[in-house]
Amino acid sequence: MESGRSQASPHVLIFPLPIQGPVNAMLKLAELCATSGLKVSFLNSEYNHNRLVRFANIHSRFGKYPGFEFRTISDGLPRDHPRSGSRFMEIFEAMNLRTKPLLKDMLVEISPPVDCIIGDGILGFVLDVANELGIPIINCCTIGACYLWSNYSIPDMIEAGELPIKGSEDMDRPITAVPGMEKFLRCRDLPSFCRASNMSDSTLLRYGTVTRKSLTACGLILNTFEELEGPILSQIRTKCPNIYTIGPLNEHFKIRLSPENEVSSQSSNCFWEVDRNCMSWLDKQPNQSVVYVSFGSIAVMSDEQILEFWHGLVNSKKRFLWVVRPNSVAGKGFQGEDTPVELVEGTKERGYIVGWAPQEDVLGHQAVGGFLTHSGWNSTMESIVAGVPMLCWPYFADQQLNSRFVGEVWKLGIDMKDACDRKIIEKMVNDLMVERRDEFVKSAAEMARLAKACVTVGGPSYCNFDRLIEDIKSISLHNHDCCWPIRNSQTTNSCSG
Ligand code: UDP
Repeated sequence: MESGRSQASPHVLIFPLPIQGPVNAMLKLAELCATSGLKVSFLNSEYNHNRLVRFANIHSRFGKYPGFEFRTISDGLPRDHPRSGSRFMEIFEAMNLRTKPLLKDMLVEISPPVDCIIGDGILGFVLDVANELGIPIINCCTIGACYLWSNYSIPDMIEAGELPIKGSEDMDRPITAVPGMEKFLRCRDLPSFCRASNMSDSTLLRYGTVTRKSLTACGLILNTFEELEGPILSQIRTKCPNIYTIGPLNEHFKIRLSPENEVSSQSSNCFWEVDRNCMSWLDKQPNQSVVYVSFGSIAVMSDEQILEFWHGLVNSKKRFLWVVRPNSVAGKGFQGEDTPVELVEGTKERGYIVGWAPQEDVLGHQAVGGFLTHSGWNSTMESIVAGVPMLCWPYFADQQLNSRFVGEVWKLGIDMKDACDRKIIEKMVNDLMVERRDEFVKSAAEMARLAKACVTVGGPSYCNFDRLIEDIKSISLHNHDCCWPIRNSQTTNSCSG
């Protein structure tokens, strides 16, 4: 593995968790790396690569970067596996078992050799393979620092007797063993895998162990920014000092690429066909009058849940643009013959339904005044930078915690978790769009301002990205055998590195 290293352009292999959010974010990171002179190999699952080729013009877009290559690898699941809903978590075991050895073979054979891996922090086996082969690895986490830190603290929560959560417990019981979250964390803000009925103590412990291991990488890239998660980032820095906060990544991407590269910045990285007709519909709606509704790329809802949301939205009398992804409804399906007539009529009057939307453009549209979201991290960051207040209905994993931060810590909206009732939805949509609108608009506008400042030239996220590139170049020059050029990554605004 040692010969042939240290070329003029360091070779970086970028490997996201193969789902829409991380692939979207890490493709942006990959393009930023390519424009900074790195040779990038982007590793997709075969399944997702076919979808990107079909729905996003990836080959022509990335073909212009010398040395940029897409590579593919099996995600270990059969073709007809849904890769969504309650079966989504199966991907981790499948990848560990089948993708890991394939990755190792690929890295041994790849030419030119890889100087540095940017892996998804949630895929612990990538770190193992990198360590075995002596390749420096930086983990990229497309989750919030808050979730990373709460997962890190799982062993502490177990030791304090706060986990696992028992079946019949009061879900408002406070959780105090996560430093920095003592004042507001409750059982219901933790992911469902923290409940004993779902999993044994040892499996739960494994989640904490994987997170702890992910912090042993040479560095950690996070799609967040200091003003949003500063206190939690300080906690993480005590365990992993070399952190590159480069978010909000979507805005960062626009700032660096947009002036010369308008087309690229608007291109889709989507696994589904983007329906842009909704933009013309938005053009006809009054300013800030529309609730944008999307539950991301993995959530699967029952017919009953869909009906509750639909009634709630129609009864709220607010305009709405709703993404109902193909295959996102279990059971009989969406818009069947027996759909109540008032829903059909209410939607004709004030609604618009699409299969997949150009989300960033939608959130940036002047007609959008609120976001009913599942609180996926990428959606949360996109909403924050667009200054759109959120109504959160978290589905699983990190989303329960993200929504708590949105509602309780950042005050950017309302956390509706654990309720799916038309009356509550109607009321909360009205709270978001009318009753409490002023307070949310004020805090969302201020957070959007801070977010944008972080990624403008000289801002902390902008400087951190430059530092990341310098560090990768430096490590490849030194043939990997010296230690990583760790510099203190405190919340400095200095671009000097
Ligand atoms: N997204 C999109 N169009 C849609 C719905 C979602 O482009 O109609 C994108 C959204 O902009 C985000 C990603 O899909 O970048 C979803 O990622 P997130 O982390 O929010 O949720 P996940 O899909 O992982 O649950």
